[in-house]
Amino acid sequence: MSTTPHVPRAAHPAAILVVEDSATQAAALVALLEDAGHTVHAARSAEAALARLADHALVLDLVLSDVVMPGKSGYDFCRALKADPARRDLPVVLLTSLGDPLDIVRGLECGADNYVTKPFTPADLLARLDRVLTTRALRRAAPPGSGIAVTFLGTPLTVTSSPAQILDLLVSSFEELVRSNDALRAAEAEREAALVRERAARLEAEAARRRADEARDVAEDANRAKGDFLAMMSHDLRTPLNAIGGYTWLIRKGIRGPVTPEQVADLDRIRHNQAHLLAIVNDVLNFARVEKRDVPLVPTAVPVGALCEGVHAIVGPQLVERGLEYVYAPCDPSYVAWADRDRVEQVLVNLLSNAIKFTSHGGRVTLGCTADASRVRIAVTDTGIGIPPERLGEIFDPFVQVDARRTGTQEGVGLGLAISRNLARLMDGDLTVESTPGEGSCFTLALPRAAAEDIAALQAAASAEAE
Ligand code: ADP
Repeated sequence: MSTTPHVPRAAHPAAILVVEDSATQAAALVALLEDAGHTVHAARSAEAALARLADHALVLDLVLSDVVMPGKSGYDFCRALKADPARRDLPVVLLTSLGDPLDIVRGLECGADNYVTKPFTPADLLARLDRVLTTRALRRAAPPGSGIAVTFLGTPLTVTSSPAQILDLLVSSFEELVRSNDALRAAEAEREAALVRERAARLEAEAARRRADEARDVAEDANRAKGDFLAMMSHDLRTPLNAIGGYTWLIRKGIRGPVTPEQVADLDRIRHNQAHLLAIVNDVLNFARVEKRDVPLVPTAVPVGALCEGVHAIVGPQLVERGLEYVYAPCDPSYVAWADRDRVEQVLVNLLSNAIKFTSHGGRVTLGCTADASRVRIAVTDTGIGIPPERLGEIFDPFVQVDARRTGTQEGVGLGLAISRNLARLMDGDLTVESTPGEGSCFTLALPRAAAEDIAALQAAASAEAE
């Protein structure tokens, strides 16, 4: 029982007998009841209480008894008390721990008038005693045969049903309560189980996120190490390759002495392979730099039409050599991209070289532009071999070649598109593809459109140069 500093005064100060075997509990009860204005007698056992009650000169209004006591229990005590006709009307309130709902039924059986469940607050106990005392006062005041007076939530009521009906009603209501209580307990247990499950799921999600973070860190470290290695290796390979090229040229020119026509042919083969190897090494170095974002970009307003006309000059000889038709629809002069000019040119030359490489004699390569409010798009379309749909997702990955045998060429190592897309993205653009095997492919480079003031600055610079 908890103690409160302010004990409410009893509505009906009464003479109360407290039956409690625990000295501490008894002392606390006596103090509480006296503070509320009651007169209190105490007995430490049922037997002692019955002895006190045998003295009919002792005037009492209520008995408050513990249930579990050595010797006679509270139930037995109540039964013995109610067997005494002189004390039958004395209300008995049992203090029960209500471990089992049957405790209440046992209380009813032994004739107890009410009960207080432990643990209780002083206010609970005093209110319950007041209720019993009020009901008793009402009953005493009611004329005989007018029914049973009770209070419900503080309102006095008169019940005229027969005691058997009342008891039946009470027991059924009580059964109902016990059932609802069981249902509540089950719901509470299920709620707790759900909370435990939710907590476990949250912990598992957190652990999974931590594992994913760790895995990403490891992958990023490995990627960095790979990039560093590629950059270092290709850099170191370029020096001896350039030396091979230089000395081959010296011998080929006869600077080191006369060379036979067969030696010239061999030296040309060495030069060709050296150039091919150097191109691959340069690709690897380029890729490593782009991946590490180690590429100096100088974005400016780039008139797309002029740029497209310029790249034709670079790939023109290849187009002629392969016998391909070249179609260029001149770009609208208002199409100006905001990008690094040299990098855009590098990407376009790569796309055009691929289109030429993968289109057979008599085919067509088309270069065209479109634009909307925010982007300029340059499309390189060919009527070549196309790319199978299941490989489209991977051709921008490094070192991917759909089928080196199909192309019948040894050029490249599958880095051109990876570099191109990385460059496009570094410039806030993108590179995408659409393709149909046997019909051809269309690669589209999208770039941010230059702002009006950048275009104006570009035009001002151009007219100043013209003057
Ligand atoms: P590389 O040209 O060195 O092989 P890329 O990264 O430029 O490397 O291209 C990767 C692969 O994508 C090529 O090997 C080829 O299989 C495919 N590809 C690229 N462009 C075309 C194209 N225009 N038509 C058909 N296949 C292409």
